[in-house]
Amino acid sequence: MLIPLIHEVGMRDGLQMEQKIVEFDHKVRWIEGLIGSGIPVIQLGSFVHPKYVPQMADTDALFRHFTAKGGKRPTFSGLVLNEKGMERGLACGVDLFCLGVSASETHSLKNTRMPVMEALERILAMARTLQQEGRKVQVSVQSAFGCGFEGPIAEAKVLSIVDAYLEAGLKNISLADTAGHADPRQVASLFSQVIRRGDSIECTCHLHNTFGMGIANCLAAYDSGVQVFESAFGGLGGCPFTAVAGGNVATEDLVHMFSRLGIETGIDLDPVIATSREAADQLEHDLPGCVYKTGPISFQQA
Ligand code: ZN
Repeated sequence: MLIPLIHEVGMRDGLQMEQKIVEFDHKVRWIEGLIGSGIPVIQLGSFVHPKYVPQMADTDALFRHFTAKGGKRPTFSGLVLNEKGMERGLACGVDLFCLGVSASETHSLKNTRMPVMEALERILAMARTLQQEGRKVQVSVQSAFGCGFEGPIAEAKVLSIVDAYLEAGLKNISLADTAGHADPRQVASLFSQVIRRGDSIECTCHLHNTFGMGIANCLAAYDSGVQVFESAFGGLGGCPFTAVAGGNVATEDLVHMFSRLGIETGIDLDPVIATSREAADQLEHDLPGCVYKTGPISFQQA
C-alpha cells in the first residue's frame, strides 16, 4: 500500500493570505506542534520581498532557528521565486527548494510579469544551480487544472512543462490546483499521464478547496499513484495572485480521511488539531478545516 507523505504548507501558503502578522515566537510554537505530530516535510516560508508579503519577512530566521538543531527532524522546505530568494535560501539552510511556473499565461504574468516559457527558462536555470549545489528541488506547475482568469488549461500545456522538467532531470514534480477548479476525474487523468512517464517520478499534489472538491481530489490523486500531499493545518491558505482564493486542503482533515480508509500516514492528529485551534485563536477567525472543530470520529469502522 502506498504510504501518503504529507508536506505541510500552512506556514507559507496559509499565512501569506492573512492580514494579521504572526509573531516569530508564535510561528515557532506552531511549527513545533507540527513537528511533534510527525509530519515529514514542513514548509517554513517563502523567500519573497518583505515589501510584497510582510508575513514572510522572518522566513530566513525561521530556517536558521529550526535547522540549527541536531538530531532527527523533518525536511524543511522553502518556496523560492527568483535568484535573490534562491541565494537567501542557500544561505539559511533550506533542505528542499520549491520552484514553479504557472501553466496559465495570465496567472504567470500577474505572478512573475513573465510569459510561461520565459518563466520556465528561469526556473530551469535556478534548478540547475541548486542541483549543482547538491540541494533537493521540487518543481511545480501552478494553475494546472484551471485558472481563475482564463478558465480551462489544456492538459497538453501542463504536460509540456512536466516534460521540460523531466528532460532537465527534475523528477520531484508537483501539480497545483491554485484556483481550486479541479475535479476528481480531471485529477486522475492528469496525474496518471505524469506517472506513466517514468518509475522514478515523485508526484506531489497541491489542491485547494475553493469549491469544496479538495479532499475528493486528494483521494483521486492517491488512487492514481500520487504519494506526496501538500496541505495546510486548519485549511489555511490561498494564493494572493488568483481571482478567487480558497484555502488548502486541511492537513487534519486529510490525515483523518486516510486513517478512516485504513491508510496510515504516521501522523498524530492531536498536535495538528491543537495547532489549528491555536492559530484560529491568534488569527481571530474560524479556519475552513472541519476536523480541528469537531475532533476525529470516535467510533471505529464497522
Ligand atoms: Zn497554494
